[in-house]
Amino acid sequence: MLLSVVVPCMNEEDSIPLLVERLVAATEAWRGLSEIVLVDDGSTDGTWDAICAQCKDHPGIRGLKLSMNRGHQVALTAGLMEATGERVFMLDADLQDPPELLPDMMAMMDRGYDVVYGRRKERKGEGWFKKVTAHGFYRLLNRLSDVPIPNDTGDFRLVSRRALDAVLEMPERARFIRGMFAWAGFRQIGIEYVRDPRLAGETKYPLSKMIRFAFDALASFSIKPLQIATRLAFLTLIIAALMAVYVFWSLIMYNAVAGWASTVLVISFFSGIQLLTLGIMGEYLGRLYVEAKGRPLFFVDEQTGQTIEPVVESLAKHR
Ligand code: UDP
Ligand code: MG
Repeated sequence: MLLSVVVPCMNEEDSIPLLVERLVAATEAWRGLSEIVLVDDGSTDGTWDAICAQCKDHPGIRGLKLSMNRGHQVALTAGLMEATGERVFMLDADLQDPPELLPDMMAMMDRGYDVVYGRRKERKGEGWFKKVTAHGFYRLLNRLSDVPIPNDTGDFRLVSRRALDAVLEMPERARFIRGMFAWAGFRQIGIEYVRDPRLAGETKYPLSKMIRFAFDALASFSIKPLQIATRLAFLTLIIAALMAVYVFWSLIMYNAVAGWASTVLVISFFSGIQLLTLGIMGEYLGRLYVEAKGRPLFFVDEQTGQTIEPVVESLAKHR
């Protein structure tokens, strides 16, 4: 049985040698064949050279260079499409997710699971802001999402061929891979681990990207934000009714005109809600537009290393 390892890399030149070393060690415990697919997601440093050097040294390693930076989720998708294994293991290049967990994950898959995902028990070396926002994000997503998406779970996981094929059949452009696996179903189980600090370089997820990623996740897995608009409308109707009572009451009792303060308050409240509602609709509309264009997810610029041909052929026969 062939095992594939998929790693998206963007500006990770310093991590790659140790990454490969630890991956090779982790896969050696595995008696079958294994291949490693390293995807260079438009890096501007020496990542591609580092990948090529590794491909020369190790026969089972392949490199894929995308034509430009497409983002973590698309780079991961590119690697997943390239993987030929019966089981596919995916992790980040910065070694925040320990490759040494592979044997445990394999053992769980042997017990009949299709997806074994890593659940972060603790995050080392990440600021309180990232920890708090990540914690909040997973809980919010779970409340809003129509399918249960496991909390504190990234893309670090081992998946079976049929689970992967199910995900690869989903054509959407806004890719939220952990959610897509959750949606695919099959038997899934989590395994807890401690997320290490980054090996080298810095995070490629600044706040702006994190917000976009979070909205992509919410918008592709829930239409509840759209329904917020309706709820807000009810809320404002109730408030408006109360205001009306108050205005009439003060007119009759004191013969007074309502002050400008309350007027301004009401106007800003209502226009705030209108803008929010429009904004939510815009977010969905924008995503619909992107999906409707139906462009390819990525283009491959260069490829290096060799596929393990005989294995691939026998796999193709099996399927
Ligand atoms: N990554 C990528 N393309 C991007 C951003 C990130 O391929 O546009 C890769 C990156 O090299 C790493 C993984 O995705 O292997 C996760 O990124 P990062 O470690 O920066 O995210 P964090 O762990 O801080 O959430
Ligand atoms: Mg990281």
